Amino acid sequence: MPDALSLSPHLPLNRPRLIAPGPVEVEPRVLLELARPQPHHRSPEGIAALMDARAKLSALLGDPYDAVITTSSGTGAFEGALVSLTPEGARVVSAQAGKFSERWGEMSRQLGYDTTLVSKPWGSLLDPEEVAGACVGAHTLLVTHSETSTGALHDLAAITRAAKAQNPDLIVIADCITSYGVAELRPAGWGVDAVVSGSQKGTATPPGLGFVLLSPEVQQRMIPATGRGFYLDLTRELRGQKEGNTPQTPAINLISALALALDRLLAVPREVLWAEKRRQADALIAAGEALGALAWAPRTSPAVAVLRPPSSLTGRQVAARLAEMGQRALPGQAPHEDTVFRVSTLGYADRYDALGIAGILEDCFASLGVAFERGSAVSAAWRALAER
Ligand SMILES: *Cc1c(COP(=O)(O)O)cnc(C)c1O
Repeated sequence: MPDALSLSPHLPLNRPRLIAPGPVEVEPRVLLELARPQPHHRSPEGIAALMDARAKLSALLGDPYDAVITTSSGTGAFEGALVSLTPEGARVVSAQAGKFSERWGEMSRQLGYDTTLVSKPWGSLLDPEEVAGACVGAHTLLVTHSETSTGALHDLAAITRAAKAQNPDLIVIADCITSYGVAELRPAGWGVDAVVSGSQKGTATPPGLGFVLLSPEVQQRMIPATGRGFYLDLTRELRGQKEGNTPQTPAINLISALALALDRLLAVPREVLWAEKRRQADALIAAGEALGALAWAPRTSPAVAVLRPPSSLTGRQVAARLAEMGQRALPGQAPHEDTVFRVSTLGYADRYDALGIAGILEDCFASLGVAFERGSAVSAAWRALAER
């Protein structure tokens, strides 16, 4: 039923505002970069853009890891890291507690690795000691830092340290797809060998690029000409990209756009960025709590608020109502579409977007018949933002 809330300026364009954990809103300056005349990736301009983006990706990580940019989504980058660091027949441990971490276990099995799953129910946290126990004798550990399907921020530092205490030769590949540039991440100190992300999440660029950041030590252990892939052979990619070349045609326009988007993130120290993203997510969670919703995970990710709605509502109903209001949030991922809804300030969004989303949630819940004191979600969000 069209009503005043359907007056959102996003609706006539059929382009809802993105308050979902990826793809995210993109800064107009970054979008305009994509409209520039087509550069050639082998021209000095193309080579400079690749080198610039790679250097900025390493700077955002803060450790001297080398970046490989793949023309793929984050999943492609993850696959490249797995096949380029893990020899045929090796044992792989997949630590999983949600949609994305389960994907890595599935990928490993399909690629023919001897795969051990350490599984926890969705919404719960991985146990570092349990993961470490499974890593004895393994070659590679696959672990997800920010599990976007449940809103859990797993303790990547504790998991990696415990696993490497059991097995110092273990290679740790971390899905940091929504934690990179968002949550505290110190791979060199924690012992994470490969950090994987993608363009449409924290780095607020359109979809189409994946990133793998590789420690200097793990680069010595990369497999030349992996039998598990050709396009995603990161050994060959890294060799080329260190000189500004890619073996194939890269999405060079997206790479230039990425370099611009990274400037905004690099304008403040990483600690400032992490703390602000933390406050924004806390504001969304506080707003949800004021309306009778509760965070699913006990240790929450700053990338996304994954909330269980009050018992009168389902995650799908909340997401559908928000869509009618011109706001693209998300329900849970199958089979948990009704368990939760997901809202986020990932990407090109600031604390006032968090405050706005709190107001949007008030209108959404009120129109769905939830009783609460008007203004309570917005004030709860404000209080969370004001915390230092
Ligand atoms: C989005 C996401 C992925 C998948 O990335 P694609 O870019 O869609 O391939 C994997 N893991 C996490 C945690 C994500 O949020």
